[in-house]
Amino acid sequence: MATKINFNGEIHDQLNISVLDHGFLFGDSVYEVVCTVDKQPCFLDKHLDRLFASAKAISLVVPRDKEWFREQLEITLGAANNDESYVRIIVTRGVGEINIDPSTCQSPNIIIIVMEIKEYPESCYEKGIHVALVSIKRNASDALNPNVKTGNYLNNVLAKVEANKLGAQDAIMVNALGHLTEGTTSNLFFVREGHILTPSLDCGILSGITREMVIQLARENGFHIEEGKWAGEELCEANEIFLTGTIKKVMPVSHLDARPVGSGKPGPVTLKLMRLYEDLIGRKL
Ligand code: PMP
Repeated sequence: MATKINFNGEIHDQLNISVLDHGFLFGDSVYEVVCTVDKQPCFLDKHLDRLFASAKAISLVVPRDKEWFREQLEITLGAANNDESYVRIIVTRGVGEINIDPSTCQSPNIIIIVMEIKEYPESCYEKGIHVALVSIKRNASDALNPNVKTGNYLNNVLAKVEANKLGAQDAIMVNALGHLTEGTTSNLFFVREGHILTPSLDCGILSGITREMVIQLARENGFHIEEGKWAGEELCEANEIFLTGTIKKVMPVSHLDARPVGSGKPGPVTLKLMRLYEDLIGRKL
């Protein structure tokens, strides 16, 4: 079991990169996190599509095609030889002058980090996690669009710091209009009177790949699911809440602002979707 880092096609055990890379200086980069299931990257095509879409959104021309990423990932996964891996694919603006102008950067750097995956403890799935509705607002779509997955995560870091101070494991943010958006690294779903509700993309969220799959699974299995706009306070009336993400998968929330959600245990809809999603990623191979 090992960590391997692919830097522009060369594999390393450790990597030092230039402090003049604008990814480091300004968060001027895009990235994806992918997990493996039975050693194969899960939903890789969707992750690569989103990586290229994010790069385009920040006018970053990726010097390699998707096939190159697939090949390099396979080589790096092989070199690491983990049971299951966490994969982080990063494309930075590259090395430039120590000012914000991206046109001074020579060429983007591509970094693929493969390490042994650290799953969330079983207890999170059995009991659920605590979240807090925080005062930090999700970035506005016309400022730093949450649907572009850049290396600039300070908005989310600040939300997480606030949640941690409140004794919660994660934060839920609203946007400037007070509408629910998402968690710091996950999408938000809640259940009210048997209906599954999730903030729509135009609330200013990342279009999560797990979110997309869960919406599809819910529909295929006869759930009523609605994407829309809801005020932050409406979350307090939820019977169930869960978060979705590549590493979290479907993660139940037991407490919101230190108060139990519904029974305070993962509810029936959440449990069903947790099972359906596990089955789906098992089947995808
Ligand atoms: N929202 C944010 C802000 C995230 O960082 C992530 C994790 N990439 C998600 C949602 C979930 O996306 P995905 O299901 O594609 O991992």
